[in-house]
Parts: sequence; C-alpha cells; structure tokens
Amino acid sequence: MAKIYLIDVTNRDGVQTAKLGLAKLEKTLLNIYLDKMGVFQSEFGFPLTNHERAYLNANLRLVKEGALKKIRLEGWIRAVSEDVEAAFKNVPGIEHLNLSISTSKQMIDNKFQGKYGEKDVIEMMKKSVILANKMGAKSVGVNAEDASRTEMGFLKEFSLAAKKAGASRIRYCDTLGYDDPFKIYERIYELAKEVSIPIELHCHNDLGMAVANSIAGAKAAVDAGVDAYINTTVNGMGERAGNADLLSVILAIKKSSGFAGKYCLGGKINLKRSWKLAQYASYCFGVPIPINQPGVGSNAFAHESGIHADGALKDRRNYELYDYEELGRGEQEFIETGRQIVVGEYSGIKGFRNVYDKLEVKFRDKDEARKILELVRYANVHTQKPLISDELRFIAKYPDIAKEIMTVTPQWGGHENDQPIG
Ligand SMILES: [Zn+2]
Repeated sequence: MAKIYLIDVTNRDGVQTAKLGLAKLEKTLLNIYLDKMGVFQSEFGFPLTNHERAYLNANLRLVKEGALKKIRLEGWIRAVSEDVEAAFKNVPGIEHLNLSISTSKQMIDNKFQGKYGEKDVIEMMKKSVILANKMGAKSVGVNAEDASRTEMGFLKEFSLAAKKAGASRIRYCDTLGYDDPFKIYERIYELAKEVSIPIELHCHNDLGMAVANSIAGAKAAVDAGVDAYINTTVNGMGERAGNADLLSVILAIKKSSGFAGKYCLGGKINLKRSWKLAQYASYCFGVPIPINQPGVGSNAFAHESGIHADGALKDRRNYELYDYEELGRGEQEFIETGRQIVVGEYSGIKGFRNVYDKLEVKFRDKDEARKILELVRYANVHTQKPLISDELRFIAKYPDIAKEIMTVTPQWGGHENDQPIG
C-alpha cells in the first residue's frame, strides 16, 4: 500500500510569514530537530536568494558530516531554466529541488499578464525539469501553484507533462486555502488515477482546513495507489493564516478513527521530539503556542470541570485520546530562579567557561575556547536572543560550519526570484 511522507516547509513557507523570520542558525537547528523526529524532507530554503547561500551550502556539509542523518534537504526555485542553472551554481551540492510555477487561469492571466499562456507554462516547466535532472538532481518536484483553482483538464495535462519530463512528484498547492476535504479528495483522486504520479499536498489554512485538507488529499492519493507527501510547518506557521501544522498532521494520521492502523506514514516518526520542536520554533519565531494547540498547547491535557477531572483521574482514556508522554511532555524542566550567567555578544571568557562547564562541554585548550567564544558572540549578534543549550552545543561541535552559516555578506547583482513566475 502506498504511504504518506512528510515534507516540512517551515524553512521556506514558514519564513515567508509576514513580519517574522528565522536566523540561519535557527533554520539549521530546525533541520536537525526535524531530522531527529524522522521527517522525510525539509524544504530548507531558497538557492536563488543571496543571503541563503552560505546557510544552504553549510547544511549540505552537515549531511556529509553526519549531523543530518536521514532527512533530505530540498530547495525551492521557480520552474524556469535560468533558476535551475543558478541553483546549481550557488549551491553545487544540491540534490533535491522543487520547481514552482502558477497553473490557474487567474494567476496565468493576472500575474503573467499576457506574457505567457498555458502552453508556455508547460514548456517552461518541462525545460526546467529536464535541465534539473541533467544537472544532477536526484529528485525534482513540480509545484502547481494555485492548483486548487486550476481547471482540472489543464492540471492533468500539466502533471502528465511533468511526469514525462522526469518529475518525481507533483505538488498540488492549495495556495489560497480554497479547498475543503471533500473537494480535495475528489480532485486528488482523479489526478492520481489519471496521471499516476506521487502527489504532494500543500495546503494553507485560510478557511481553517489546512490539516483536514492535507489528510483528505493524502487519503485520495493513497486510495488511488500513489504515495502522498504532505507539506507541513512547525506550529502551522506560514503566510497569512499559515500552513498545515506538522504535529496535527502526524496525530491525525496516527490517532484518528479513520486513519489509525489503515494509512501509514513513511519512515519512523519519533513523536517524543514534538514538544521540544514546537517550543523551539515558538521561541525562534517569537510566536507563543496557543493554549489550545493540538498536542503541545498548555491546555491540550488540562482538565478543570468536575466530571472531566474526575474521569481523567479514574482512567486517562476517559478524556485523553493518547498519552502526553508520547509527545515528550511530562518531563520536569529545570528553570534557574537564582543567579544566572549567560553568554552573549559582549561576553568574556569567564562567563563563557561557566556556561559551557554546565553543559559539560570541554575544550582542548585556550585557543579553542577563545575561538568558540568568538563564535558564540557572533551567534548572539545573529539571533538577537539568548542562545539555547543546543545552539551552544552545535557551535562547539561544528565551529567551522557554524561560522559559514552565520556569514552573511550583502551582494549586488546575482539572480533573485522576484519576478512573477513562481
Ligand atoms: Zn505555500
């Protein structure tokens, strides 16, 4: 039976959230956490954006060094040949790409404004897929932007052309969150049956249905006999009302009455990492987790009313669908309430030593300690937040890569994806 895989897009769509963003070090730690959780792929950024280059190349080095073990790192570009060429030039080690182009009449007419029609869209997409494969891509996903508002006949023609050109998957983008679970099921089933290509579900939450639409679409793909790939973000971050929340999607597949035991996630998911991952993303974005967030909200396992509290105490299954321990909740967290020595952009060696001693990280000699202190100072300049233990450990373990990740040198020229094709 076909399976459902997870492609997390926090580091691409999540960082497109208006008014918010992530430092490259934070994006890196997210890739590491997603890998530890068992997520299949991370859409880790934009090979065409100058300030992403060092971070992208450095993260590919982390794969080589074994810091990222299983997760695939994939870059997002427009489905045009010049972007493919530039992607391999900027990020020579890139192996996985998603190429994006608009497919709805609304967008073709009103973004391209007569410059390109449906035939041109297919031609550009085909050329870019062929080129990406020729240049060494191991997987190429093709994104149909605004697929949910694309006329079905054209969507099939586009998808078939992508398959013939050598695409590994089609990304069905519900760019405006326009679908509902019933409609997306019908459309994906029809598309998957006729084109027979694995399908990615990329759903937005404008009508509050991103998670429901994602799993309905995935079910349709699996029912039609092809693998499904759900695009998620941590805590549902993303443009406007956000994307499908990673944990909610996993819980829906693992725990809901219609999915549990019937539909399978590809790869082994370590749910125990959920709590930490959600906390970290919340900290990095500076966006609190709503108290009623599935799984990780502070009220997700709280009971107050008499009947519920009594019932939960007698047997947790009375009012809890699954155990909070499964998500890594319930462990004691140590919070310092007395003196705190922290490290930051103006730290000296003594305070720095104290912090790393507590983490039980040792340095070979004075020079090494000085080098790591310098990086820690820059890391704090870079994130503008107190550094967390895992960030400090990462810097000490991979100093050269940390340096590369934090190196941002403004450049003029180059090639930016600010033209209205994607
Ligand atoms: Zn999106």
